[in-house]
Amino acid sequence: MRDCIVIGAGAAGLSAGLTLGRAQRETLVVDAGRQSNLPATVIGGLLGHDGRPPAEYYAAARAEIGRYPSIRFDDSEVTRADRRGDGTYTVVFADGRREDARTLVLSPGMEYRYPHVEGLAERWGGDVFHCPFCHGWEMRARPTAVLATGAVGVHGALSLRSYTDDITLLTNGTELSGEYRDRLSAAGVKWDERAVAALDGAGSSLSAVYFVDGTCLAVSAMLVKTFLHQRSTLAADLGAEVNEPDDFLGVGAIVVDAMSRTGIPGLFAAGDAAASVPPSMAAAIASGYLAGAGAVTQIAAGY
Ligand SMILES: Cc1cc2nc3c(=O)[nH]c(=O)nc-3n(C[C@H](O)[C@H](O)[C@H](O)COP(=O)(O)OP(=O)(O)OC[C@H]3O[C@@H](n4cnc5c(N)ncnc54)[C@H](O)[C@@H]3O)c2cc1C
Repeated sequence: MRDCIVIGAGAAGLSAGLTLGRAQRETLVVDAGRQSNLPATVIGGLLGHDGRPPAEYYAAARAEIGRYPSIRFDDSEVTRADRRGDGTYTVVFADGRREDARTLVLSPGMEYRYPHVEGLAERWGGDVFHCPFCHGWEMRARPTAVLATGAVGVHGALSLRSYTDDITLLTNGTELSGEYRDRLSAAGVKWDERAVAALDGAGSSLSAVYFVDGTCLAVSAMLVKTFLHQRSTLAADLGAEVNEPDDFLGVGAIVVDAMSRTGIPGLFAAGDAAASVPPSMAAAIASGYLAGAGAVTQIAAGY
């Protein structure tokens, strides 16, 4: 019986692991190795690590936590988790192994779903990005397209104004209201309502957006709207409450209190999977720290 199993070793799970390791709690950190920002060239906006490549950051964080003797890593996937009658947890791995623990931290991240446009996936995390705070600086001063509709598109286009003066909102076949046109005009933002066909450029770089009519717009960066979705049914299977779909963030974040506690004793959730604010590395680290501290406190109190 371990003290804790942490499911997912991105920023949130590693942060929880660090807190548990320092408290000498026997902890298994399980990770399938698909942190959501791995395709990105660098991490933007994380104090102390600004501009660092994500893979390098995760390797350093893992080495830091691995120094604590009560921490074990398991590079595999959890397929199922159950709460037993005595309030402890059993976790089942993809290869059929089982492990038991007194507490669980769910930190599996979220799937970021972006628009299905030919040529987008190859440029995701590079010239195609989803968050101005993460990569606006790296993309600054470039001719930039924003691919999003309605209020979200207008908000996205306006939010880029401190990074570049050349912004075009692509509504991909939907019509902008007069009110939105007025707001964009006043801010010097262009718009194009034609349906988008494909992105193009040498290698993984972006140099043009093609429309269905065969013409193109020269841009070298693109902001796209993404929606977050749970990567698995683990939270729901454990009976954790999840949020209603939300037009801004996405679908089904795990409901937690300010201390990363779900409503189920011994079950904590952190990072994107439980984010009620726009996701970031900094927020994931903070909520993972609280989840780890919560698990340590609960075990110490003997619940
Ligand atoms: C392309 C991109 C670029 C980004 N750039 C930035 C940036 O520059 N700055 C910034 O602040 N934020 C950035 N973000 C957001 C940031 O990456 C996330 O907020 C942060 O990584 C969330 O951390 P997490 O630990 O919750 O999830 P993740 O980092 O996604 O880690 C979750 C881990 O859990 C594993 N996992 C999932 N399910 C299971 C399971 N069942 N069993 C075992 N393991 C499992 C996954 O494989 C993964 O390794 C970016 C996001 C994306 C998509």
